[in-house]
Amino acid sequence: MKIIIIGNGVAANSAASAIRDHERESDITMISDENLFFYARPRLTEYLAGKSPFEKIIVHDEKWYEKNNIDLLRGARVSSIDTEHRMVCGSFEDLPYDKLLIASGASPSFPPFYNPPLEKVFVLRTKEQADRIIATAQQCRSAAIIGGGLLGIETAYALSERGLESTIVEYYKWLLPRQLDEDSASILQELLLQKGIKFLLGKQTSSLSNENGKISISFSDGGSVYVDMTIISAGVRPNIAFLRDSKISIGRGITIDNQMRTNLPDVYAAGDCAEFNGKMYGIWPAAKEQGEMAGHAIAGQSVDYRGSVMSTKLKVAGIDVASVGDFSIAPSTTVEVLHEEGVFKKYFREGNKLKGAILIGDTSDYFKLQNEIAG
Ligand SMILES: Cc1cc2nc3c(=O)[nH]c(=O)nc-3n(C[C@H](O)[C@H](O)[C@H](O)COP(=O)(O)OP(=O)(O)OC[C@H]3O[C@@H](n4cnc5c(N)ncnc54)[C@H](O)[C@@H]3O)c2cc1C
Repeated sequence: MKIIIIGNGVAANSAASAIRDHERESDITMISDENLFFYARPRLTEYLAGKSPFEKIIVHDEKWYEKNNIDLLRGARVSSIDTEHRMVCGSFEDLPYDKLLIASGASPSFPPFYNPPLEKVFVLRTKEQADRIIATAQQCRSAAIIGGGLLGIETAYALSERGLESTIVEYYKWLLPRQLDEDSASILQELLLQKGIKFLLGKQTSSLSNENGKISISFSDGGSVYVDMTIISAGVRPNIAFLRDSKISIGRGITIDNQMRTNLPDVYAAGDCAEFNGKMYGIWPAAKEQGEMAGHAIAGQSVDYRGSVMSTKLKVAGIDVASVGDFSIAPSTTVEVLHEEGVFKKYFREGNKLKGAILIGDTSDYFKLQNEIAG
């Protein structure tokens, strides 16, 4: 059997490992437009900060692919899929498949105020982009990071570690609006302020331009700031352009069922490119879980994916932050807060059932809480 996996991220590699847990006979080919072995994408910010050499964040080196009898095509770009003739086409000789997994991940979104390219304005998703940021940061003293989400905060801290004055610009009134409520975000903000990071919250960016070697960032309330460089961290969009002419069903991402199948026979999807029950997770643990499920399903095992727990663990500037599950407040929700020296914990329950939790300062219960919420 010929199995093709588009992608070489966590979803793709988890799938390949899961297939090899069951059998070694099929031919597996993985295709990636990056020219690298599988690395821990979230740890790119450590690399950006100069804290980890790139080799330290590689998860699977060349030997892993050899040992698992996997053919990895690096620097190879898929441009289309011919599902009628079961072929994957791109910058390589057309490849036939019996089973196909699409694990093509996502790329940074460009907000409406940004018309790329603009000098000294960047996004961060790949090592190549991190290298460009590092090269420019060496000649800069200040940076604005547009977007106060997980990646924005980690990027701001990485650049401050390189000696730049980092300012986070966020449209929302508080940081990490997807992971924290207002109370817990203000605690994190205070801790980050102590580490030298600056904030412009509740600011809607309306335009970006190059002015006399600086980046001018204008806001809809009329104000503006000038910085030496800018990183845009405004969410991601799935890498699905190559499916344009296929009959694969697309919602916001590639729609999959509880067995990770698309609407077409023997075509599966997992990770940041996939949409399950209207949800796109955009986080590492979900991409890993979906990849594992897809691998088991491709190997002929029965799987029943029920969705992933929306969970995030962040360590920035030495501060541990974790957010698990759902922290929306309904009339029936009870909230318990524990706040003591350097540690903040907030639990959200429906009756006796824990549905969400936010932890700052001590995240040692993270996996336990994840299991409790999932179970
Ligand atoms: C800097 C950074 C920090 C992050 N921090 C966190 C964090 O703290 N916690 C967390 O949970 N998540 C974090 N994330 C998100 C997390 O990294 C992703 O959710 C996860 O990597 C998704 O994995 P994936 O395998 O679905 O896709 P990806 O890792 O995006 O991999 C997609 C693969 O597909 C390939 N590809 C795409 N299109 C094509 C094509 N046309 N042809 C050939 N190959 C193609 C790419 O080369 C790549 O190999 C972070 C992301 C970044 C960038």
